[in-house]
Order: sequence, then structure tokens, then C-alpha cells
Amino acid sequence: CGIVGYVGEKQAQDVVIEGLRRLEYRGYDSAGIALIDAGTVSWQKRAGKLANLEKAIVDEPLVASTTGIGHTRWATHGAPNDVNAHPHLGRSGRLALVHNGILENFVELRTELENAGHELSSETDTEVAAHLLERELAAGVDLTTAMQRVCCRLEGAFTLVALDGEDPSRVVAARRNSPLVVGIGEGENFLGSDVSAFIEHTREAMELGQDQVVTITREAVAVTGFDGSPAEGRRYHVNWDLSA
Ligand code: GLU
Repeated sequence: CGIVGYVGEKQAQDVVIEGLRRLEYRGYDSAGIALIDAGTVSWQKRAGKLANLEKAIVDEPLVASTTGIGHTRWATHGAPNDVNAHPHLGRSGRLALVHNGILENFVELRTELENAGHELSSETDTEVAAHLLERELAAGVDLTTAMQRVCCRLEGAFTLVALDGEDPSRVVAARRNSPLVVGIGEGENFLGSDVSAFIEHTREAMELGQDQVVTITREAVAVTGFDGSPAEGRRYHVNWDLSA
């Protein structure tokens, strides 16, 4: 039910876990994190409270990384257990994906993937999108193009945020019928399901419009439609009092 993304100079693990903590008020049953390290994705996910995830990370530390994503899940498809928790990985270990919402057409997409030889390991609607994204990456396009193409095939409500282990410079996200906000920093940028995910780091925000894809790097935020055409989000300044 909560999503965080980060690219910058800080340790992504700290930024992501803190962001998830600030999104806890939304309610959730599981939590997970993925970070990029030299060509692969390092991840951990656990059913239950954020403390369970934090303990798992202490027991089996993740890599040091400045690019990461995180998720708190409110299960809609599949029981709240470790396997169904996000991130969802593809087959190669190259990709990590987190999702809030419901993919209405996941049954037909799952059948298509299984007929093509994919083995899916969870009961979630989300995992089909991870396999579709990975298939696009394997065909040679970058994560931004992969996200645009996959979103054109999805129906329902989704905020998607993904990492490609072979491209640690970027985090790519998309939205339809589900919220997504970019936090604009200096030498760092953030993603959140709402501004509380990054409010302690920056108050400059950009709300994504319907059916948009956003790519964040340390220095840039680029928005397109699902068709790849240039687009713009709505920039605003967050005025809340943090202590409120
Ligand atoms: N439909 C997805 C699942 O059940 C995402 C749920 C959510 O919004 O957290 O895993």
C-alpha cells in the first residue's frame, strides 16, 4: 500500500526503510526492499511488520547501494506471506518490481507467460508485470521503454516502480488510477505513493498524471506518456508542518 524509490548519494537502504516507516499509517501486511549492486539486484521481503524486514536485513545484510525501491503490501491477490510480498523478481535476477493496486487482466497475461515457458512463483497479480518487463529488457530496450510497453498491456489500477540491475543510474515508475509523486532533490530524486515518503529530504514535488511513466536519475526527472511521447507532471511545493 506504500511505495518508495530513491536514486542519489545517500545509502538507499536507509532512505527506503525510513520512507516505508513514514507510509506505515496507510496500513500493510508485508514489506520489502530492493537495491542495485554491480549487475544484480539485492533484495529482502517479509510478511508482517517493517520490523520483520529490518531483522531480516540485519541477519542477511544487503549490498551498499545508492539506488533502491521499497514496498508495503496490502494483499489483494494471494495470501500475505513472504513469497507474495514485493519486490517481485523476474527469472534472471536482473529486475525488481513493486506494485500498488490491482492488475485486472493478470489471469490472461499469466496464461500467456506460462504458455511461453515462464514459471511464476507467487499468487500475485503483480508478478506477471515483472516477467513482462524482464522480457522487454532481454529484447534489448532500456527500463523506461520496457515500462512504457508493458503498461500499454496492463488493465486496472497500478503504481509500478522498477529497478534494472544492469542500469543502476535509474529508477522507473508508472501510474494509472493509483497515486505516484516524485520528490525533487539536489543530486538525488525520490518516488513515493505520497509525499510523506520523502518529506524529510525535499519539499519540491511533482505529481504524475494519469497514464504516465517517470524515470528518475540523480540529476534528472523525465516524464512520458505510455506511448513514449514527452509529458509533464504537476510541480508544487509541500507546505506541511512535519510535526503536525
Ligand atoms: N495486488 C498486489 C498484491 O496483492 C498489490 C497490493 C498492494 O496494493 O499493496 O500483491
